[in-house]
Amino acid sequence: MISESVEQRLKQNLKEIFGFDNFRGEQEKIIKSVISGKNTFVIMPTGAGKSLCYQLPATVLEGTAIVISPLIALMKNQVDQLTAYGINAQFLNSTLNKSEMNRVKNDVISGVCKLLYIAPESLTKEDNLEFLKKAKISFVAVDEAHCISEWGHDFRPEYRKIKDIIENIDTALPIVALTATATPKVQLDIKKSLNMDDSVIFKTSFNRANLYYEVRPKQNAKKQLIKFVSQNRGKSGIVYCLSRKKVEEIAELLNVNGFKALPYHAGLDPEVRMKNQDAFLNENCDIVVATIAFGMGIDKPDVRFVVHYDAPKSLEGYYQETGRAGRDGIDGTCLMFYALDDITKLEKFNKDKNVTERDNAKALLMEMVAYSSLGVCRRRQLLSYFGEQMEKDCGFCDNCKKPTKTFKGKEEVELVIKTILKTEQRFSANHIADILTGNTKDNPAILSYEHNKLEMFGKGLKYFNLEDKFEEEEEEDDEDTILVNKKPKADINADGRISASDKWVSIIRQLMVFGYLEKDIDNYGVVKVSQKGMNYLNDPYSITFHEDHDLDETEGSGEDD
Ligand code: ADP
Ligand code: ZN
Repeated sequence: MISESVEQRLKQNLKEIFGFDNFRGEQEKIIKSVISGKNTFVIMPTGAGKSLCYQLPATVLEGTAIVISPLIALMKNQVDQLTAYGINAQFLNSTLNKSEMNRVKNDVISGVCKLLYIAPESLTKEDNLEFLKKAKISFVAVDEAHCISEWGHDFRPEYRKIKDIIENIDTALPIVALTATATPKVQLDIKKSLNMDDSVIFKTSFNRANLYYEVRPKQNAKKQLIKFVSQNRGKSGIVYCLSRKKVEEIAELLNVNGFKALPYHAGLDPEVRMKNQDAFLNENCDIVVATIAFGMGIDKPDVRFVVHYDAPKSLEGYYQETGRAGRDGIDGTCLMFYALDDITKLEKFNKDKNVTERDNAKALLMEMVAYSSLGVCRRRQLLSYFGEQMEKDCGFCDNCKKPTKTFKGKEEVELVIKTILKTEQRFSANHIADILTGNTKDNPAILSYEHNKLEMFGKGLKYFNLEDKFEEEEEEDDEDTILVNKKPKADINADGRISASDKWVSIIRQLMVFGYLEKDIDNYGVVKVSQKGMNYLNDPYSITFHEDHDLDETEGSGEDD
C-alpha cells in the first residue's frame, strides 16, 4: 500500500525535519493510515504527539493539507514551530490583511504550502471556498474534533458545517480527526458529523499514570492553597479560577506570600497576556493563575501541579486542564477544591442558554459533582467516564491513599440490575434509586410509569435501616398477584428517604465505574446493564463499595475571608 520510497521519506523527514529518532506509540500506524488516504480517527491524551500524525504526512504528500483548528493562538504556535523546522505552513484567519491573504493563497495554489491552518469560520467564507476548490488538497485534519459535539466541553457550532464544506471542495478528501477528550458519546457524534463511520480508529489509553488526583472540600481554601504551593515551592504550576476577578485576587495573594505568580485571562491586554505566558514558559514565573483561557496548545513539559481553585464545568474540561501537568512523565499533582457554592455559580452561568444547551451543561456539571463525591478511585472514575475500564484501584489518588469507609453488597447489586432490566433500561440512576426507596414525592414520574407497582418498589430501604419508617400495605389486585407496596408512614422523614436515594445513586454510579452498568450512548443519563452485569446475575458475588465524601458542609464556606 505504501511504497518503500514513501516509507523511507517518512523516516527521513521524522529525523531531519522534526528531529525525532523514533515514532512514539501508534504514530507510525496512524501516519500510514493517513498517507494511504483512509479516514482516520485519533483519540489520544494531550501530549501524546497527535500533531505529528498530520504534520508528517503533509510533508510527504503532494499538495496542501488543510488543518482545521479552533483557536488562532493555537494555529500561530504551530505555524511558527513548523516554519522554524523549515516547512512552509500558513494560516488563514481574520487577522490577515488583504495582501497577506493573497500571498497565502498563492502559496497554496502553487503547491509550496504544505499545511494550511484555517478556522472553521474562515472555511465557510464563500471566496475561501472557491479558492480551495482550485487548490490541490492532500487531506483534511480536524484538530480538537470534540468541538463538533454538544456533549464535549467546548462546542463550536461552526464545526458542524465542516463535513458539508469538505464535500463541497472534494467528496473524496480523506479526513483525519484528532482529539484528546472524547467520551463514547462524543466519539459517536464526531463520527456521525464527519460522516466517517468507516474510519480507522486509534485510541490509546487516557490513563496518565504519573498524575496524582485529589479533591478537597473548599474550606479555608486560601490557606490550603498557600500551604500546597509552599510544599511545591520553586516548581511550575497552574492555578485555575472561574472568574477574571478571582484570577487577579489569587495571583495577588500568591505574590504577597512570596511566590512568583502571574495572572492570565481574556480580560488582559493581549500583550500582557503574551508576556505572562512567556514568563511562565521561560521559567521567569513559577505559577500562572488563569481562567480556562490559558493552556490550550501550551507545551510546557515540567508543569508539576494543576490546582482547580474553583470547580470546573465538566470532567472533560477538568481532564484537559489537569493533563497539562507532568507531560515529561515525571509526577504531577492535580488538586481540586470543591464547593457546592461553585456548582451553584456555574449553574447560574448557564441561565442564558437555550433549554437543550442548559440541560447538557447541567448534565456535564452533575458528572463533575458525582466525581467529587464518590469514594471510588478517582482514576477509575475518570477512565470509566472516557469509556475505559480499569480492573483495579490505582493506588495513586486521594481515594486510594485515604479511603472512605467501605461496605459490601450482593443482594443490593442484584436488586439494582434487576430493577434496571425490569424497567427496560430506559431510566436514569436517580429514577432507579427513587424506585428502590419509594420516593414518589420527589419523583412523581414513578406513579405515571406505574413503577410503584413493581416488586422492587421500596425494596431498597431495608439496606439503610430505614425500613421501620415505612409500612407495608398489601393491595389485592386480582387472585394471583398481591402487590406489596411500601408506603411511607405519615411521619416519614423526607430527608431520610432522600439520603437513601442518594446512597442508591452512589451504588449505581460505582457499579458503572466497575463496569457492571453502562451509559446508554444514545440517551444521555440512561443507565443500562453491561455484559458484565448480565453475567453477574448468573453468578453473583459480594462487591465492595465506598461511602461518598460528605461535601455538603462546603456550602457557603468556600471562602475564608
Ligand atoms: P498532542 O497534540 O497530542 O497534545 P503534541 O503533538 O503537542 O501532542 O506533542 C507533544 C510533545 O511530544 C511535543 O513536544 C512533541 O514535540 C513531542 N513529540 C511528538 N512526537 C514525538 C516523537 N516521535 N518523538 C519525540 N517527541 C515527540
Ligand atoms: Zn486511585
